[in-house]
Amino acid sequence: MSPMRNTNRAAQGADGQNRNNGCFSIFTRWRYYRLGHDEYRICMRTAFQGNINSLRWVNLLFFVLALIFSVSPIIMEKNLVKTGFYFEAAAIALILFIFTSHLRNKVKQGIQINVGLIYALIFIYYINVIFFGMYLAVWAEPDKIAGSFVGILICVLYLLNISPVLYLGLTFTTVTLYIAAIINFKIPSVWNYDIQNSLFATAMSLIFGWQIIMNRLTMMSSTNKLKDENTIDELTKMKNRRDFTRTFQRFITSHRQSDNFLCIALVDIDYFKNFNDHYGHPQGDECLRVIGRTLNDLQKNEGIYTARVGGEEFALLWHIENEADAEKIGLHVNQVIRDLKIPHEKSMAAPCITVSIGIHLAKCSSSNDIDVLYKLADNALYSAKSNGRNCTVVSK
Ligand code: GH3
Ligand code: MG
Ligand code: MG
Repeated sequence: MSPMRNTNRAAQGADGQNRNNGCFSIFTRWRYYRLGHDEYRICMRTAFQGNINSLRWVNLLFFVLALIFSVSPIIMEKNLVKTGFYFEAAAIALILFIFTSHLRNKVKQGIQINVGLIYALIFIYYINVIFFGMYLAVWAEPDKIAGSFVGILICVLYLLNISPVLYLGLTFTTVTLYIAAIINFKIPSVWNYDIQNSLFATAMSLIFGWQIIMNRLTMMSSTNKLKDENTIDELTKMKNRRDFTRTFQRFITSHRQSDNFLCIALVDIDYFKNFNDHYGHPQGDECLRVIGRTLNDLQKNEGIYTARVGGEEFALLWHIENEADAEKIGLHVNQVIRDLKIPHEKSMAAPCITVSIGIHLAKCSSSNDIDVLYKLADNALYSAKSNGRNCTVVSK
C-alpha cells in the first residue's frame, strides 16, 4: 500500500467520514457536508443519474422557447443578429436534448455514466442558458428594465441537482456577470432596480436552493446506507448473493458492447467441513472472515468484483482483453489464499487452507443468461475439485 493511501485512511474514521483535523478541515467538511469523500461521490452520481431525465426535459423546453424567440425578431423587427443568437441557443439545447436522451437509455441499461461527463453537460446547458438570458435581459433591451431573468435562472439552478460547491460557484458567477453587464450596458437610472432585484434573487436562491440540495444529499446518503445493509454479508462484510446477482446482470449488459471477455470465477474452500469438525465452528467463521478481507482487498486493489455467494463459496467477476489473463488471475488468488498460511491439518490438499477455482470465460457472442454462465463456472469448479483441489480450471 502506498504511503498516500495510508494518509487518506488515517484521515477517515471507521464510518468513512472525513476526520481531517488539518488546516483545511473547515473547507473539506463544508465541501462534502460532513459526508466522507467516497460517500459524497456515490451520492452525487446517484443524484445525477436519477436526474438525467430532468436535464433532458429542461433542454427540450429551452429549445422550444429559444426557437420561438428566434422567429419573432425576423417578423417584428427584421433583426437577423437577434435571430441568429437565439437560434444558436436553440440548436445547442436540441443537441443537448438528443445527447441526454442517449445517456438516459444507457442508464436504463444499467451502465454507469462518468460523473465528469454529466458535469460537462450541465455546464454547457448552464452557459447556453445564461448567455441567452443575459442577452435577453441586458443587451437586447439596454434602455429598459428587462427584469431579472438571470435572477430566476439562479433560483432554478438547484433543480439540476448539482453539488453544493458547484451550486455556490455558479450562483456567484451568475450574479457577478449580471451586475457587470447591467453596469456596462444599461442606463444608470435602472441600475439600482436591476441590481437590487438580482441580489434579492441570489439571497432567496441561497436560502431555498442550498437547503434543498443539502436535504437531497442527506436523504441520498441514508438511502445508500440502507441499500448497503441489504447487500452486505454479515459475517465477512463482503457483498452478498443479492448484490452479486444484480452486479452480474450489469456486467452482462455492459459486456454486450465490449470486445473483452467476461470472467466469472467460483471460489470454494477445500475440505472446509473437515476444518469445522476439527477446529470448531467459531474458528471456521474466523477463517471465512480472513478470506473475505483478502478477497475484498482484491476488489480494492485490482478492481475485481468479489462476493460471498454461499457458505464457503465466493464469486468473482471481471473483464479481460486477453484470454490467458483469466488463468493468471485464478492462480494469483490460489497463491494469495495459500499465503495466508491458515493451518488445516485435516485437508487432503495441503497443510493449510486452500481454495479450488472454476472460471468461465464468456465471449460477447456466448449466452448472456446468468444461470447458464453460473452453471458453466460451477462445472469448471467441479473439474478443479476432481483435479485434486488447490488449483484453477478455466472453461471457454
Ligand atoms: P470440498 O473440498 O469438496 O469443497 O469440501 P468441503 O468440506 O469444503 O465441502 P462441503 O460442501 O462438504 O462442506 C462445506 C462446509 O462449509 C459445511 C459447512 O459446515 C461449512 N460452512 C458453510 N457455511 C459456513 C459458515 O458460515 N461458517 C462456518 N464455520 N462453516 C460454514
Ligand atoms: Mg461448497
Ligand atoms: Mg468446500
